[in-house]
Amino acid sequence: MRVDFNVPMSGGEISDDSRIRSAFESIEYVLGKGGRLILASHMGRPRGQSSPGLSLGPVALRLGELLGRPVGFAPDCVGPEVEAIVERVEEGAVLLLENLRFHPEEETNESEFAAGLAALCDVYVNDAFGAAHRAHASTVGIVSHLERAAAGFLMGRELEALGRALDHPTHPYISVIGGAKISGKIELIQKILDIADDILIGGAMAYTFLRAQGVATGKSLVEEDRVGLAQDLLESAEQKGRRILLPEDHVVARGLDSDDVRTVGVGETAPEEMGLDIGRRTIERYCAVIGVAKTVVWNGPMGVFENANFAEGTFAVGRAVADSDAFSIVGGGDSAAAVHASGLVGAISHVSTGGGAALEFLSGRPLPGVDVLTDR
Ligand code: AMP
Repeated sequence: MRVDFNVPMSGGEISDDSRIRSAFESIEYVLGKGGRLILASHMGRPRGQSSPGLSLGPVALRLGELLGRPVGFAPDCVGPEVEAIVERVEEGAVLLLENLRFHPEEETNESEFAAGLAALCDVYVNDAFGAAHRAHASTVGIVSHLERAAAGFLMGRELEALGRALDHPTHPYISVIGGAKISGKIELIQKILDIADDILIGGAMAYTFLRAQGVATGKSLVEEDRVGLAQDLLESAEQKGRRILLPEDHVVARGLDSDDVRTVGVGETAPEEMGLDIGRRTIERYCAVIGVAKTVVWNGPMGVFENANFAEGTFAVGRAVADSDAFSIVGGGDSAAAVHASGLVGAISHVSTGGGAALEFLSGRPLPGVDVLTDR
C-alpha cells in the first residue's frame, strides 16, 4: 500500500501526524482481513540519496504507537534483503519500507525499480492522494507489473469531495485563494473562473492583482512578470460575469520582524511598507460572502500567518469557512495547517491531505496516480 507519510519533522520529532492517521481506515481494513501489509511512502526531498534525517524510522514507531501493535521497519524499499524481510511478515502484521525517494529511480519512474516494488506484493493499493499528481514508480510504474490494483479509502474520500466541487457544485460557489504567488495557481484561477461565482483573493498574490489595477503596493511581494496576466484574469472574470474580490484594507509593516504594524486602506501603503495580512474591513467583507456560500473551497493563507501579527485574516477566514453551512473544502498544506491549529477540522466537510495534488485536481488536471487505477 502506497501511503503519504510525508509528515513534517522538527528536531527529529514528528510535529504533525495527521497524515499517518488519515491512512488508518485502509490500514485497519487490510489488517482486519488478515492481510500482510507492506506500507511504502516518500518523505521530503532526499534527491535520490540515502539521508538519515529523512528516514521513515520515526514514522514506523509513531504508527506502532497509534495502532497499538508493533510495526516492522525495513532498512530499504527494494532488493533481496527487503524481500527476505517481507517473506517473514505474518498475517495481520505491518511492515513499513524505508523512504522510496532514497532511490532516484522512484521519481524517474524507472521500470526495473517499479518491478522491484511490485515483487514485494500480490495486490497494490494506492492511498497516497498527496502523491497522486506525480507519475513515480510507486504511484504509476508499479501498477503495470501487477494484476490487481485499487484505490484506498482516503483516496476515495478525496476524489469524491474534490470531484463534487469540480463537477457538480451547488451555488453560490465561493473560492478563496491566497498564498505567496499567482504563478503556482494560474491554472486553478482560470479553472475556478468557469465554476465559482466569487473568487476572494488574499495573501501576497493579491498585490499582483492590485498592481494591475494601478494601486500603490509599496514593498509588498509583487510578481512583476505576472501583472499582465493578473490584468487578463480580471478582464476574463468580468466577461464571464464572475467577481474577483481583492483586499480593500491590509496590515502593513516595514518588514516581517517589525513591531510597528498598522492597518491601512490598500491605496495608503507607504513606499517602505509591505502588506502582510488582510485588514478588518476585508475580513468582514470576505466572511460575509463566505457566509452565504453553498460551496466554498479555500486554498492558501490570507497573510503571513506563521507570524501572530499577520495571522488574523487566515484564522478569521478559516472560522468563516467552518461556520458556514456550505459544503466546504480546505486544500493546500498551509490552509489545512491553519484549520488543524485552530481546531476547526470537525466543522469542515473535507480537509484535503494533498497540497499539490488537490491544487492540480481542482485545476482540472488528471492525476496520473488515479488515471492508472481507473481500469483496474
Ligand atoms: P503558497 O505556498 O503559495 O500557498 O504560499 C504560502 C505562503 O505565503 C505562506 O508561507 C505565507 O507566509 C506566505 N504569504 C501569505 N501572504 C503573504 C504576504 N502578504 N507577503 C508575503 N508572504 C505571504
